[in-house]
This record gives sequence, C-alpha cells and structure tokens, in this order.
Amino acid sequence: MSRVDILGVQFDALTLDEAVSVAESLPRGSRVVTPNPEIVMAARSDPELMEIVNCSGLVTVDGIGIIYAAKLLGRKLPGRVTGIGLVTALFERLASRGGTVYLFGAKPGVAEQAAEKIAAEFPGISVVGTHDGYFSDDSEIIKDINRRRPDLLLVCLGAPKQEKWMGSRSGVVDAGLMIGLGGVLDVYAGNVKRAPKLFQKLGIEWLYRTVTQPSRLKRNIKLPGFLFVALRERCKGNK
Ligand code: UDP
Repeated sequence: MSRVDILGVQFDALTLDEAVSVAESLPRGSRVVTPNPEIVMAARSDPELMEIVNCSGLVTVDGIGIIYAAKLLGRKLPGRVTGIGLVTALFERLASRGGTVYLFGAKPGVAEQAAEKIAAEFPGISVVGTHDGYFSDDSEIIKDINRRRPDLLLVCLGAPKQEKWMGSRSGVVDAGLMIGLGGVLDVYAGNVKRAPKLFQKLGIEWLYRTVTQPSRLKRNIKLPGFLFVALRERCKGNK
C-alpha cells in the first residue's frame, strides 16, 4: 500500500472502495485516522500526535486542502475519502453481515440520537453501546466497550483528542476497528447538516460549514497557512 507524505503526515493513496477493503482487512484493534489540514498542522508541532497518526492502520485524506497541498507538492492522491463517506461505506458492509457498532463521543444524548438514525438506516447493524465524549476518567467507558466488543468503535471527540485517546488506548480497548471521526455523530443525529451535494462535489464543504457554523471561522482561517507551508516545501524541493 503506497503512502504519500504531505508535510510529514503519511496518507494512504486510496479510493473510497480501496480504503474500505483495507479497513476491513486490518488486524483487530487497529485504528483509522482521517486527518484534515488542521490535524496536519497540529501534528507538525506535536511529535506524539504525528506518531499516532502515522502509525495508524489507515490514514485517509479528509479535506480538499490535503488534495491542494498534494498538487502543490507534485504528489499523487486519488482524491478525498471523507470520514463520513468511509464510515457510511463501513456501515453498509457491517449491515450486510449483522455487525456491531459502539458510538463514543459528542454531547450527552447525541450518540443515542445517532444510534436511532443508524439503526433505522442500516437495519442489519446493532448499535451495542453509546457514551458521550465529556469525561474526566474513561475507565468505566473502556469497561463498557470491552464488555460489548464491537466490530466498529466510532471515536468522535474532536481532533486531536480522539487521535490521542485512540493512541493511548491501543491494546486496551477491545474493538475490531476504531475510527476517529470528529463531528460525525452530530451529523448522524441530525443536529448538524451535511453540506448539499453540490458543495460536496466541488470540495467546498468547509465553506458551507463556516457559513452555517461561524464559530468554525477561527479553524478554517488556518487553511491558507497550511497551503503556504506546502508552497514553501515545494520551493525547498526545487532548489
Ligand atoms: N467533543 C467531545 N468531547 C470533547 C470535545 C469535543 O465529544 O471533549 C465532540 C463535540 O461534541 C463534537 C465533536 O467532538 O461532536 C467535534 O466536532 P467537530 O465538528 O469539531 O469535528 P470535525 O468533524 O470538524 O473534526
């Protein structure tokens, strides 16, 4: 499997279908991360985060900014594999074989709402447990997950909390696969709307999310900085 370096993060150069096949073939307990430019920038100044991301079983391209950076750097990536796209495809596969899912993260009540929607949309799936993402001690949460031994554990604590949690709990959490997915439970619960198809197709979901959630402006403002670093990297390579 070929990996493509974008400013230190090693992305898997895979289409959605290929990413799903890889995710399904990973050994039990593996983790999947879905970095966007914000996580790449955070990892550049946080070696622990960089290691957790790069030592994951699957590192997908979440965010059009990563594709732009790859173009600037002259590296080839087949396209985006968004967290929500990947998890939806994994749900479809799990549904066909009666798999189990545990939803961990978001504000109290959100994971339960998401569980109802997921159960309705994918009748073959059993959501075997839920827990919100606001805790000071996770020992009871881990016990609960390990009692239920889900095939898939969604870890939706926001970045980099979810990556750090998955990194530090590797080998402790008994799940087939865990995947860090940011605000996906809010989307499944119906509290946050996904951008319309046209925005998704044009790769400008970030614009829709900034307009509908102005609090994200502070985060998206980092994208030009990320592209600037990529440009600087390209110039270095051309010397
Ligand atoms: N969150 C959480 N625990 C925390 C901080 C955040 O469970 O300590 C949740 C938050 O409620 C939200 C998600 O993590 O559901 C982060 O969503 P965001 O939209 O910021 O993530 P993105 O999809 O942009 O990475």
